[in-house]
Formats: sequence, structure tokens, C-alpha cells
Amino acid sequence: MEPLEHTKIIATVGPATNTVDAVRALIRAGADCCRVNFSHGDGNALGPMMETVREASRLENRPVAILADIQGPKLRIGAMPRGGALLVEGSRFTLTRREVEGTDEMAQAVHERLAEDVEPGARILLADGAIELEVESISGGDVTCVVRTGGRLFSHKGLNLPGRKVSVETLTEKDRRDLAYLAGTDVDLVAISFVRSAADLRLARELLSTSRPIPIIAKLERPEALSNLEEILDASDGIMVARGDLGVELPFEQVPVLQKKILGRAAERGKWAVVATQMLASMVVARRPSRAEASDVLNAVLDGADAVMLSEETAVGENPALAVRAMDALTRAAEENAPAHASFESFGEKRSFASGAAGAAVLAADRLSARAIVTLAGSGLTPLDVSKWRPRLPIVALSSTPGTLRRLQLLRGVRPVSIPHHSDIEQQLAHADRFLLDAGWAAVGDVLVVVAAIPLGEGRETNTIRFHRVRAPGAANTIWPSSR
Ligand code: PEP
Repeated sequence: MEPLEHTKIIATVGPATNTVDAVRALIRAGADCCRVNFSHGDGNALGPMMETVREASRLENRPVAILADIQGPKLRIGAMPRGGALLVEGSRFTLTRREVEGTDEMAQAVHERLAEDVEPGARILLADGAIELEVESISGGDVTCVVRTGGRLFSHKGLNLPGRKVSVETLTEKDRRDLAYLAGTDVDLVAISFVRSAADLRLARELLSTSRPIPIIAKLERPEALSNLEEILDASDGIMVARGDLGVELPFEQVPVLQKKILGRAAERGKWAVVATQMLASMVVARRPSRAEASDVLNAVLDGADAVMLSEETAVGENPALAVRAMDALTRAAEENAPAHASFESFGEKRSFASGAAGAAVLAADRLSARAIVTLAGSGLTPLDVSKWRPRLPIVALSSTPGTLRRLQLLRGVRPVSIPHHSDIEQQLAHADRFLLDAGWAAVGDVLVVVAAIPLGEGRETNTIRFHRVRAPGAANTIWPSSR
């Protein structure tokens, strides 16, 4: 029997996974989406990476989404020597805007106005807060600091000025170029970093404007984003709890509680939600996760994440496929302990036909001990709404459009199934039956709850629930009694 669908896995691709074979190994281990991080290049550098993912997905015969992550005003260190440089507590370390190769005494800070944004006594955090500096003096574009917490500093690590307003726009010149580039590609989703308000997302949507809508994910990592959470949820298709920067911009002890609050709100608003960063950080070198990481994955699943993300683990780690396999095992185990489905109270705000149909389908499936909920092609947002109920049974989402199949792949509990273009209702149901029988997820005569927007193909809102019993391939239209 095929393993059931579960919480989805996003694997960041990078130097450790930039070949077709390496990405195929990620897909076989359970990756549903590859993140291409535009912090580390532009379309020229990363376009080939996107093609590598497409080729690997084609060879594995599995839809895999591509998430392009736009850098935003992330302040970073410039180039460091290959093995990094060790910053020693109590020593002096200068950040300069000049383009220099870093040493243990100096590094480039890729932020033109760093000297204006800090004053003596200010804290500067490097590498997701692992290294802490205190500003001692400022001279021209050079900021000289005392190292308060030392550590090894590698190329292009992040630089944060916690609690300070940074004088840069959310979408930098580079971001604007990257969005224009992505508008001309077949990218499946775009994530915007350091979002502060809905206006940032509206601008991103404008810059990305193409004939097809590209879902936009708001990365929540700034305190302002949390104050503006509702308008950000309105203006986005989903959110990412970007814990790396969030835990640096805000006290790290607040991150677990914020994660729960944000995911709860995303579920209530019917938005897609990802938990990111340091999920299996020890597996950058180790072959097994720490027990604390195992608990963290369980919590992300119980908090309601649609997807969990691996960053360095798969981009630069020593065991990328092992990390995905560990994530796969952990999310499956976590789901066995998740509640049967979300409660009705938490869905008070959604009043669309699609959400009504989704809730009714999940309850009916429970009553009828159905084996799956099937959404017919063209029922728009229904798979997302059904998925948000977190039913304990597969959601089989039919589509004939490759881009839709790839995006459906990201929804928790959803298995996208490809059908021929222009299939009518009976043909679609025959496809669903065949898929469920082949997967071993249902037997002939089992009940399915089917959700559809009828007439098919007219862009209607979801408006129909139908009950159906699985038929053997080619079987005549058997009339089953409603209970057996
Ligand atoms: C994060 O900060 O958690 C994050 C996902 O962003 P990035 O990896 O781009 O720093």
C-alpha cells in the first residue's frame, strides 16, 4: 500500500543538491517542494537550478513545486575564507561597506547605511544570532565592534540589528529584478522576506504580474509583520514562520508561542502555512536528528503547519536525503497523534461555498467511514479548504494542469492526481477509483465523498457534494445500496 499523504516537506536546494541526481534523491526521500533561495543569486545563477528541479521531477514522475524565496532587505556579511573565520570573544571586529574578503578582524557588511543605522552601544547579531557584537565606534563606513559572543563566521551569513528600524525598503532593487525574472518562468510560489505590511505584498504581486496568478507567501520575521498580521493574511496566499530571523529580531523565547499563534490564525483564515528553519539543524553534519528536533517537528505538525521546511540541512548539509527521510518519518509519526480533524468552532470566519462544502464533506466522510475525499478538477480552492480541516483520510485532488498539480502537492493530506484534459464527471470518478485501488487506499464498494463545482470547466464556485462507491475498472454503473 502506498504511504498516505501527510504534512508536506520543502527542501532548500543549494551547493549540496545542485545536480539532477541529488534532487531526485530528495524527491525519493519525500520532498514535495524545492526552495530556491534568491539570497544566493539571481535568475542567471538560479534559473539552471530551477531547471534541474523540473528535470528531476520529470524523471521521478512526481509533481514537485518550486518555491522561489526572494531575499528582501536581508543584511548579510560578504565573502569569508572557505572555512570561515573564528571571532574570539573580547576581540575587535570591524564591519565595513568596502568589498573585502573577510578575516577574523574585518568583514564586509552588505548594507550601505549600516554606519547610519547604529550608534555606539548598539547590538549587532550575526549568523542568526549565534555571534553577538557591540558597536564601539563608527568612522566613515566602518563600524568597529567588540565581540561579545564569539563563533565561526562563514560567507554571506545574516546580519541583524534587533529592535532597530533599518533604512531599506522591503523590496530591494535586486528583489524587483528577481520578481520580474520569475514572472517569465513557471515558478509555482514566491516567498517574500521581511514583509512589514500588506502594501509590500501588493507591490510584489504587481511586479510579479503575469497572465497566471502566482501564489505569494509572506515570510513573518519582523516585529512589524506581527502587528500587521491580519492585513498580511488578507493580502497573501500563505505565510511562513521564518524562525531564523524571527528569533533574532525578537527574543528567541517568544518564537514557540508566536509559531502557535500564527499557525492558529492562518488555519482560521484558510491560509497555507509553513514552519521553517533549524528544524533538523544537527543533521547538517549528523545522520540522525536530535531528540529535541524530533519534538520540534511534532509540535509544528500539531500546531497545524501545512509544510515544514529544511534549509541548510539540504542546501549545504552532508546528508541532504537523510534529512528529508528523517523529516518524513517524523511528520508521519506526528500525524498519527494529531486530532481526527479540526473543530468547527475554529472555522467560524469562512463563509464561502467552498469552505461550506469542505466542512460538510469532512463530516460526511466521518459519518460514512469514507476512504477518501475526492475534489474534481476545477473546484478551485476546495482542496485547500478540505485540507484545512485536517481530515484523517486522503484528499485526492484531480487536475489536468501541471502547475495546479504541483501546487496541490503542497497541501497537507492532499494527493494530486493527473487526469486527461476535459474529463467529464464519470471519467474523473473512474480515474479516482483506479488511483485509490492501485494505491491500496480503497477497495471496490468503499465510499468516497466527492466535492465539485458543477457544471465542470465553467469556473463556478464549488457547489456540489456527491457520495460514490469505488467501482472496479470498466465495471458497469453498479447501483449500490446506500449502506452495506
Ligand atoms: C528564516 O529566517 O527563518 C528564513 C526562512 O529565511 P532565510 O533562510 O532566507 O534567512
